[in-house]
Amino acid sequence: MQIDQHKIGADLIHEVATLKNWVSEVRSKGASLGFVPTMGALHEGHVSLVRQALQENDEVLVSIFVNPTQFNNSNDLATYPRTLEQDLAMLSDAGCRCVFSPSVDEVYPEPAPDEKRVYDLGGLDLYMEGAFRPGHFQGVAMVLERFFRWISPDRAYFGKKDFQQLKIVQHLVSQLELPITIVPVDTIRDADGLAKSSRNRLLSDEQRKDAAVLPEILHALPARVAAESPEEMKMYVSGQLKDGPVRLQYFEIVDADTLRPVSSWSQARHTQGCLAAYLGDIRLIDNISLT
Ligand code: AMP
Repeated sequence: MQIDQHKIGADLIHEVATLKNWVSEVRSKGASLGFVPTMGALHEGHVSLVRQALQENDEVLVSIFVNPTQFNNSNDLATYPRTLEQDLAMLSDAGCRCVFSPSVDEVYPEPAPDEKRVYDLGGLDLYMEGAFRPGHFQGVAMVLERFFRWISPDRAYFGKKDFQQLKIVQHLVSQLELPITIVPVDTIRDADGLAKSSRNRLLSDEQRKDAAVLPEILHALPARVAAESPEEMKMYVSGQLKDGPVRLQYFEIVDADTLRPVSSWSQARHTQGCLAAYLGDIRLIDNISLT
């Protein structure tokens, strides 16, 4: 097998054929397999997914792949942080032994037979990220279907920070009838509450300080539910950010199952408040459970 015994400790696989061999070896031992897909520039949030996967599976594979098909903004793709050496060191420290880091050509060889495939995302992509990043979730589905079919993990780990993505991935595996359990993992935050994100490292010191207003606002919301309608809460959030350095792109209150906006709290079993905001060119997202 063509596996780099990486100097830092984790095995590094670049090719799909090698990946499939590795998976066969794992399966031939009867071992269970956990999978943690990432785009690299790893932080404690990613590590928490990996730690949970290591606890719940005999073997864990982490992928590091900046997936071009899920970027609808070429500048965002070009500036996305890439820190493979540091990532491998973090994974090795966490106890992860195998990393899949393919090239774009390896994942999307030409000619692409299923390029035109449109995934049925059950309407979960109509609002929020789906509305503001056209094609984003089709790209996420495209890469995940490939990875899931190549790896066939027992469990795959996804952060609640990307709430809409988590719901869409749960829908995708059921739609594709893949026998994979999707495991949601809580959001890991910095001391001031800001959700850890690979994009945080693109913020200037001043922007990083300004960004703390986002978790501050979000965490105040559950206590306001009793006295405010969803519409009033939305106005409160946009009012809090008005004229400040953080530009709100959206704050939406949705049914946590269907991801459709609600107009009253009783309309859904559970509701989630989700936002996207810009600091300069850097776009951050976060969310909180409301009811
Ligand atoms: P990404 O590399 O941004 O594609 O993220 C890979 C996985 O890590 C996704 O399932 C994310 O939801 C998850 N993730 C990202 N940030 C955090 C965080 N702060 N806490 C927990 N999980 C996270």
